Amino acid sequence: MPKKIISIILPIFNESENLPILYRQLSTVLDALAMRYEFEIIMINDGSRDSSWSIISSLSALDNRIKGISFSRNFGHQIAISAGYDYASGDAIITMDADLQHPPELIPELIGQWESGAYIVYVRNTDPVQNFFKRITSSLYYSLLDSIVSIEIPRHIQDFRLIDKKVLRVIRQSKEKSPYLRGMVAWTGYRSAFIDAPYAKRQKGASGYSLSKMIKLAFDGVTGFSLFPLKIASYIGLFVIFTGFLMFAYVTIDALLFRVHYPLYKWLIIVVYLFIGILFLLLWLIGEYIGRIYEELRARPLYVVADTRNFVYEKNSVEQRMQCL
Ligand code: UDP
Ligand code: MG
Repeated sequence: MPKKIISIILPIFNESENLPILYRQLSTVLDALAMRYEFEIIMINDGSRDSSWSIISSLSALDNRIKGISFSRNFGHQIAISAGYDYASGDAIITMDADLQHPPELIPELIGQWESGAYIVYVRNTDPVQNFFKRITSSLYYSLLDSIVSIEIPRHIQDFRLIDKKVLRVIRQSKEKSPYLRGMVAWTGYRSAFIDAPYAKRQKGASGYSLSKMIKLAFDGVTGFSLFPLKIASYIGLFVIFTGFLMFAYVTIDALLFRVHYPLYKWLIIVVYLFIGILFLLLWLIGEYIGRIYEELRARPLYVVADTRNFVYEKNSVEQRMQCL
């Protein structure tokens, strides 16, 4: 029987100091598994400004398991992983950071869980977020996400995970321009497992995640999995109309029963206020249509088939995403 292929995807942005160490650690782990599996290591250079690409090039000359892709500029971590997903040919695909925060020693365990039937294996950080600011913002963010998103996105995971090629096929079908991959992987709904382990500290170099990149990722998580922001207008509209009617009832009763005189401008203010509420409702209505257009555009599959019986073909085998070389 031919060996199963495992792809390892490494997004790389200014990691020249970490790459040699990572390669050494990764080799030790992969060599020990070489009897049973074949490996491909896909390194995506995401517009690094240091010597990362030349290191990747020389490593790939040295070791034919290593495949390199270099972006023309920095496109971002999620897009680098997406490119890895486009090029991967493995039966299982592992994504991990290249800064040694995701220890390669966990790879055998990831593969073990996959072999025992999980389609998705996440590494959950048992020692989550270090500094106070990150801890507060991340817990607030996930509470918000949990309350407005219909799928369950696990907490304390980053992009250190293994997915089966079936999961990959589903992800390749969608055409999202701002992918939030941990959400998309969870969205597929395939059976998943967790490995609990602490993440290490970044070895060398600086984090490539600036605050603005973090905010963008957080925003992609919300907009990619919830149309809630579009519905906010409807809540405002209903609130305004409701309070507007109360005001209207109040002044009407006051004027009719108690003969209080209200000048015209006071009546007008209430009418304008009511119309603003109606405008908000119309905005929401437009938002609903835009939401539908958005769902069509990102072309996420309508459903995901986990298994079939007596079909000679697999319904999921839609052609791969177009690739530009
Ligand atoms: N990364 C990338 N493009 C970017 C930022 C980061 O490919 O624009 C890579 C980076 O080299 C690392 C991984 O994504 O392998 C995680 O980034 P980082 O360690 O900077 O994030 P943090 O761990 O601080 O959240
Ligand atoms: Mg890191």
